[in-house]
Amino acid sequence: MRGFEPGTAFLAAVLLAGCGGGSGPAVVPDAPGAGAPPPDPPGHCELAVFTPPDQSPYRMPYGIGTAHTMFQGNCPPDPTWGHFGMFAYDFWMPLGTPLYAARDGTVIWANAQYRDGDHTPGHENNLLIQHADGTVIRYGHLTFDGIVVAVGDLVRQGDLVAHSGDTGNSGGPHLHVDLLADSMSVAKTNTLPLTFRNAGGRLAESGELLLNETYTALPD
Ligand SMILES: [Zn+2]
Repeated sequence: MRGFEPGTAFLAAVLLAGCGGGSGPAVVPDAPGAGAPPPDPPGHCELAVFTPPDQSPYRMPYGIGTAHTMFQGNCPPDPTWGHFGMFAYDFWMPLGTPLYAARDGTVIWANAQYRDGDHTPGHENNLLIQHADGTVIRYGHLTFDGIVVAVGDLVRQGDLVAHSGDTGNSGGPHLHVDLLADSMSVAKTNTLPLTFRNAGGRLAESGELLLNETYTALPD
């Protein structure tokens, strides 16, 4: 495991994307030994302000010209869904799909030691990249040995960084993506609304991606 330094130890046991393919309770412990996370305060989702897609600094995380269906989005109403109380997107994609940096940044976390398909919460392979404004993008459930960058690497938008997988609390091969306000927590309440500037497909009025819509990563 890389990136397990005093300053980032909090990340060690908290990188559960909490997907589960739309079923099962959310499991997002806050820190090693911290016990159950506090409940999400009402309003985290309701106060969402999405950056208009044409002003978004983020590009879709998969290859230009490829398309994937978003099957679990932001703040679902059902508390049994993994994304309840958080901003995040899940895309179906075959194991090993190439993933690219959505924005320039620095790799602050990379672990890829877990095997695909064991469906064990806590066995997520994750990649975290921090941007110049302090926000952090997370790619979750990556395939075994599927990360091609290392902690400390500077990456440019569009660089190949990883390959998708089916590790940890996952109901099938997919990518979980979310944006964190900073590197201090992966709590649901630290997730931010995320839009992409090159998502080819119908969008919500807010600019966010729509459930069960298939999005092509457009050239820009
Ligand atoms: Zn997810």
